[in-house]
Amino acid sequence: MPYRYAVVPSDGEKITLSAGRLSVPHRPILPFIEGDGTGPDIWRAALRVFDAAVEKAYTGKRSIAWMQVYAGELAHNRYGEWLPPETIEAFAEFRVGIKGPLTTPIGGGIRSLNVALRIALDLYVCLRPVRYIQGVPSPVKHPEDVDMVIFRENTEDIYTGVEFEMGTPANRDFFDWLKTNQPDQYAKVRFPATSGVSLKPVSREGTERLVRAAIQWALDNRRRSVTLVHKGNIMKYTEGAFRNWGYALAEGEFRDKVYTWAEWERTRQAQGEEAANAAQAVAIRSGRLLIKDAIADIAFQQTITRAREFDVIATMNLNGDYLSDALAAQVGGIGIAPGGNLNFETGAAIFEATHGTAPKYADKDVVNPGSVILSGEMMFRYMGWSEAADLILAGMEGAIAARTVTYDFHRLMEGATLLKCSEFGEAVNRHMR
Ligand code: NAP
Repeated sequence: MPYRYAVVPSDGEKITLSAGRLSVPHRPILPFIEGDGTGPDIWRAALRVFDAAVEKAYTGKRSIAWMQVYAGELAHNRYGEWLPPETIEAFAEFRVGIKGPLTTPIGGGIRSLNVALRIALDLYVCLRPVRYIQGVPSPVKHPEDVDMVIFRENTEDIYTGVEFEMGTPANRDFFDWLKTNQPDQYAKVRFPATSGVSLKPVSREGTERLVRAAIQWALDNRRRSVTLVHKGNIMKYTEGAFRNWGYALAEGEFRDKVYTWAEWERTRQAQGEEAANAAQAVAIRSGRLLIKDAIADIAFQQTITRAREFDVIATMNLNGDYLSDALAAQVGGIGIAPGGNLNFETGAAIFEATHGTAPKYADKDVVNPGSVILSGEMMFRYMGWSEAADLILAGMEGAIAARTVTYDFHRLMEGATLLKCSEFGEAVNRHMR
């Protein structure tokens, strides 16, 4: 399609999807959003790392045709639009891209640019790997035990934004309807006249596609388990249903490849606990993936106290939001936490720095570019360019092992060398081998 603001590189090609798999040309066009605040700093540093990794891995046989697209303050100041429709179109057309952090416009019509992008492209999985890099300062004793991958549902739950503000006509209509049609439910609301209300839709379709993606990813990457994290003991028809639909999907679609705690429970009821434990042990020894579940509050505790018991985690939007940042804290914090938003049916994916714009550090060239660099590592792995991804990871590991770090790590590491954002990028490049 014709673009008004963005320029399509004439020497690149589109990533396409054939038979459900990405087909990546030797010079793919990848759209990117630089981001607001510290976005330009971290993007500049990361871009050099990406180009260096691709050059080093493929010695000119592969390269990236970067295509800048606009969103956030840059788009608003230049074009009067926070999220020009062509930006969404570019990510849809070229399928895989990457972005820096974006300001959330205050008082604008858009609640969040990130949420708008995810919804527009139906990027229903928010993928957040949480893995320790040796040498990163951590608040826990054994951060090396942390190696988890969170599949957070990205399109529903409380984030749907169906809300009725206290005191508004819509709020009164809602409570009038409830009082008339569901008096028992209405009676449960302690202070109806002064309550705001948010709805929490969780669907079977939404659950199934998320859990399917998590299980398939776990099988493809030879992981040990998938844990469904939910608060089903309290929210039975949303979070509880998520658990039940998740188990049903696992047994229905991956019958010969998984063993579920739901099966364990059925065997326990029929034959006792010993028989159930024995059946589980046999299944796991034969290489099946364990599908289990955990109540959210316990999961928060145990991911810290027994990190090794968690591997792939599949959960709903709000739990996933909390859990991703809580786990990231164990392995170095949001300065180096990468993420991706994906749709496994269309192949569309936007990888992104998970932190915000950190505006007080904007244009100072000081913040950690690790989050967007590692998001690029995820992107290259997703594209099947694992040699470039491995080099980026080796570069990050090398720079941190040499104790050459940005201010956020420097303040927690005695005797480390303080680097600027751009210098850290250069250090990553030097350690790629
Ligand atoms: P933030 O930008 O993430 O910054 C909070 C703090 O996190 C910073 O003050 C800094 O801590 C640390 N931090 C963030 N990025 C860092 C980096 N690259 N390296 C080292 N430390 C880093 O959160 P915020 O101040 O609440 O939000 C600012 C804006 O970002 C808001 O408009 C918000 O809506 C938006 N936001 C965007 C996204 C996104 O685009 N994905 C996500 C979250 C928020 P210290 O001061 O302690 O060093």
